[in-house]
Amino acid sequence: HKQGAPTLPGIEHIRQPYWYGEGGDQSPEDFGLACAQALEDRILAVGPDNVAAFIAEPVQGAGGVIVPPANYWTEIQRICRKYDVLLAADEVICGFGRTGSWFGSQTLGIEPDIISMAKGLSSGYLPIAAVAIGDRIANALLEWDDEYAHGFTYSGHPVAAAVAAANIRLMQSENIIDYVASDIGPYFQKQLRDTLANHPLVGHIEGLGLMAGIALVKDKSTRALFSDDVNIGLICRNHCFNNGLIMRAVGSRMVLSPPLIITHEQVDELVTKAKHCLDLTMKDVNAG
Ligand SMILES: *Cc1c(COP(=O)(O)O)cnc(C)c1O
Repeated sequence: HKQGAPTLPGIEHIRQPYWYGEGGDQSPEDFGLACAQALEDRILAVGPDNVAAFIAEPVQGAGGVIVPPANYWTEIQRICRKYDVLLAADEVICGFGRTGSWFGSQTLGIEPDIISMAKGLSSGYLPIAAVAIGDRIANALLEWDDEYAHGFTYSGHPVAAAVAAANIRLMQSENIIDYVASDIGPYFQKQLRDTLANHPLVGHIEGLGLMAGIALVKDKSTRALFSDDVNIGLICRNHCFNNGLIMRAVGSRMVLSPPLIITHEQVDELVTKAKHCLDLTMKDVNAG
């Protein structure tokens, strides 16, 4: 937002539900409630009549793969309903199987009014994005006298739409969602934890289905981070890229999002390489 200013006015931000990094001594439950309470506080500060919608990802993706505490979304949903604020789920990353359901909203028990989607819609093979709206909004648009004038040059492009449809048919016929939910997703999460949780650099591992985030810390017991002049994420990321592993860094968090058709053997290879790269990172840190 800093780089892109001036941005669209009238948008407010609240704190992220990042328990490991910002929860301090609070239990995940207390922290989840406190983060959701921040939404109610802001709605009241701005005035409920001035708030159209709340938008968030079910699981924060490019922000570091942050899974909110289990009670967070229930509470957010309750607050949105209480003040008649629409709930918009950004499913660009979570959608199409990533968390083990068609949509992350299903995995987390969210009933959004609006869903934005892109990446997984075509598995990235052609550029296509879409917005799904629930009956409440659709009916309001239908009751509108006038045409709803909103579009893009390439809206509904038939080639991209055909690729997305073929992608969805394949995901259905190959049972890819089931594979993520009950087989490879749990295996991926378990192997990551079994192999990496005890590593001296790893403070915390979180994730769902085939997305995971690994917090790199200087001190596991206090969750203390490295100082900014040690760009720990970048050091680790460079070792990964030099050793045949695509593991990106978001600040000091390492993020993974492998293909939904990854095999057990490939998961084993992935975690072995990740451990090796963490070891190389540790060596760099110890060498100063
Ligand atoms: C990539 C991404 C976007 C951007 O999607 P566009 O289709 O490029 O606008 C939005 N939200 C999330 C969560 C993303 O990962």
